[in-house]
Amino acid sequence: MEKVRTRFAPSPTGFMHLGGLRTALYAYLFAKHNDGDFILRIEDTDRERFVEGALDVIYSSLKCSGLNYDEGPDVGGDYGPYTQSERKDMYLDYAKKLIDLGGAYYCFCSKERLESLTDENGNRKYDKHCLKISKEEAERRIANGESYVIRQNIPTEGTSSYEDLIYGTIEVDYSDLEDNILIKSDGMPTYNFANVIDDHLMKISHVIRGTEYLSSTPKYNLMYDAFGWKRPVYIHLPTIMKDATRKLSKRYGDANFDDFISKGYIEEAIINYVALLGWCPKNNAEKMTVPEMVELFDLTGISKSPSIFDEVKLRWLNSEYLKAMDDEEFLKRATPFFEKSEVFKLYDVRKIAKIIKSRIEILSDIPEKVFFLVSRPDFNEALYENKKQKTDSQLAKQILPSVLTTLEQTPSFTNDELFATLSAKAEELGIKSRQLFYVLRIALTGLEVTPGGATEILDILGKEESIKRLKTAIELL
Ligand code: GLU
Repeated sequence: MEKVRTRFAPSPTGFMHLGGLRTALYAYLFAKHNDGDFILRIEDTDRERFVEGALDVIYSSLKCSGLNYDEGPDVGGDYGPYTQSERKDMYLDYAKKLIDLGGAYYCFCSKERLESLTDENGNRKYDKHCLKISKEEAERRIANGESYVIRQNIPTEGTSSYEDLIYGTIEVDYSDLEDNILIKSDGMPTYNFANVIDDHLMKISHVIRGTEYLSSTPKYNLMYDAFGWKRPVYIHLPTIMKDATRKLSKRYGDANFDDFISKGYIEEAIINYVALLGWCPKNNAEKMTVPEMVELFDLTGISKSPSIFDEVKLRWLNSEYLKAMDDEEFLKRATPFFEKSEVFKLYDVRKIAKIIKSRIEILSDIPEKVFFLVSRPDFNEALYENKKQKTDSQLAKQILPSVLTTLEQTPSFTNDELFATLSAKAEELGIKSRQLFYVLRIALTGLEVTPGGATEILDILGKEESIKRLKTAIELL
C-alpha cells in the first residue's frame, strides 16, 4: 500500500492561528496513526505578505506542541526545497506544460481591462479574452517584454465531482469557477497552482485542510487530471467559530497560539483542547497527550459542523494539566508569572508554588492569587464569622493573643511543626483545631478563601512577618 504522507502548509503570517494548529495536528495524527510521514511546507509565494521572524513562529509552535515533522525547511528531506519561494522555476515549467495540455493559457489583459469586467454588484469574472491568442503569438509578445500571467482554463459547462472523506460527494458546476491566475506577473505561482504541483511532487497521499478549500478543489482536480497525476485523498476540516456567527480570528485576539501562552496556558493543554475542536475519540476521552491521540485518531470521530471555541473549557483542561504536573516542572513554567508579582522578592516561591498549583486554572492567575502575601488586604472583623466553623470575632479576640505568644515561642516555622504545635494549642484552649486555623488564617490574610491553610501560610510568611501581621490583626479587634 502507498505510504501515507500528509502535510501542513502554512503561510508565514507571523502567528500561529489555532485553526492552523488544529489542521497541523490532524494531519500529524492521521499520518502517525497510519505509520506515515508528516511534512511541513512553507507557502510563501505572496512575498508582499512576508513577515520577518514568521518562520521561527511556525517551527517553534509545532515543535513545542509535540508535532515533530519528518520533512521540512529546517529539517530537510528527499522532496525539498520545502519553501515555495525556493521552487519558483519549477512552477513555471509545469505551467508551460499545462498550457501545452490545454489546461492553461497566457493572459496579457491590462488592469483597466480587468476592472472593466466588474459588474454592478462588484463581482468580476474573467471572460477568457486571451484564450484565443495562439501560443506563437503569446511567445512573441513575451519575448518583446510584455507583462503576462498564466491562467487556468476551466470548462464553461459541466459539473465536477469528488469524494471528501468528511463531507462525502462534493459537486461543483464549472460555471461557478473562474479562470484563476496560476503564475503571477512576477513569475511566482499562486496558491491555486503551487499546492497541486507540490502535493504531487512531495507525494502527498492525503490533503488535510480547512473547508474553505472544499469548493476550489475541483480546480485542482482538473490539473491533476490534465497532468495525468493521481488525485490525493481529500479531508476537509470544519471551521472553528468564536460563537454562532463569528469565526475565531486574530482580530478578536482569540486565535493566536502565542497569545494563549502569554495568557498563561500551557502548550500541552492548548494542543489537547485544539484536538477536541471537531474531533471526538471513540472512548470520549478529553484529556489526552499527543501520543495518546495518535493511538485514538479516527476520521469517523470528525464532525462536519463547525465547532465553537470554549475558553472556559480550555481553562479547565489547563488546570487539569497544572494539577498533574510535578512540582519542579510547575515551578519552572510558573516562574515568569511569579516574577510579575512582588512575592518573588519577598518569599520562597518554591513553597508558594506548592500551595498554588492545584488552585489556579492558568498561570496568569498567579499574581492575583498570591497578592495577599505581598500585602494583607484590609478587612472587617465580620470576616471572622463563619457559621460552619463556629467562629466569630469574639473567638478571635479570645484566642489570638495566646496564639501569638505560642507562635513567638515556636522556634521552627515549618508547616509540619506549626501544625503540631497549633493543634496542641487548640486542645489547650478547648476549641477545635480547625476553628483556630480558620481564625488565624483570616488574621494573617484578610481573605475568606486562600490557597493553602494557616500553617502553610505561616511557613511562607516566616516568623517575623507572621508575628507582625498577627499583632496588627489583634490591635484591630
Ligand atoms: N497555505 C494554505 C493556507 O494557509 C494552505 C492550504 C492547504 O493546506 O492546502 O491556508
